[in-house]
Amino acid sequence: MSKQKILIVEDERTLQEILTYNLEREGFEVACASDGQDGIRRARSFEPDLIILDLMLPVIDGLEVCRQLRADVKTKAIRVLMLTARSEEVDEIVGFNMGADDYVTKPFKVKPLVHRIKALLRRSSEDQQSRDRLSIHGIDVDRIHHTAKARDVVLDLTPTEFRLLWTLVRAAGRPFGRNELMDHCRGEDANALERTIDVHVRSLRHKLGDLGDVIETVRGVGYRFRSESESPLPMNTEPTE
Ligand code: CA
Repeated sequence: MSKQKILIVEDERTLQEILTYNLEREGFEVACASDGQDGIRRARSFEPDLIILDLMLPVIDGLEVCRQLRADVKTKAIRVLMLTARSEEVDEIVGFNMGADDYVTKPFKVKPLVHRIKALLRRSSEDQQSRDRLSIHGIDVDRIHHTAKARDVVLDLTPTEFRLLWTLVRAAGRPFGRNELMDHCRGEDANALERTIDVHVRSLRHKLGDLGDVIETVRGVGYRFRSESESPLPMNTEPTE
């Protein structure tokens, strides 16, 4: 596994050095920037997993840096740990809701700071995993491994069926029109959608077996996957288990 990367945006040279030394010792790859503008530039090129961002910075302050990072698709997902000199500034961060994930007040001890960093990175990788794996009504879909299971039995799906299932499950409860589903399911294989979306849905339902009814026909609209709070089976159907 490659090293996780941390960008330190801090104008105090000694603090930069202390943080760099300790984070490298913890196994992180570290880069530094000394003002806000350079910080944004380095965030785009270095692509860090997390940024330690000082609030009071030359050129562009930390709040503005944070705002710009969040506004850019390339940097919006990067975790930000804000460093503040005064506790009044904390109100500012929270009040402005600039999207910092956590903050630490100066002066701080290095050890607890490293713990906070590790906790933030762990949280972020768990979020990522839960976004790539969904489980609902006994159906599990794993986008990373491209596998789907119904009651723990692996389903043999075509790429189109897989995309169809992922699209519906990810937004369970929300109805999709046929054209919209078609857009979501169109892959590299242009021929995949020569058949209508109804045929793919029928086949997918069939493969889901007794769970097939979780994909409902929404009259006049298209299809939807039953939401988590709804029963996986229609009221008038006896569960087979
Ligand atoms: Ca500063």
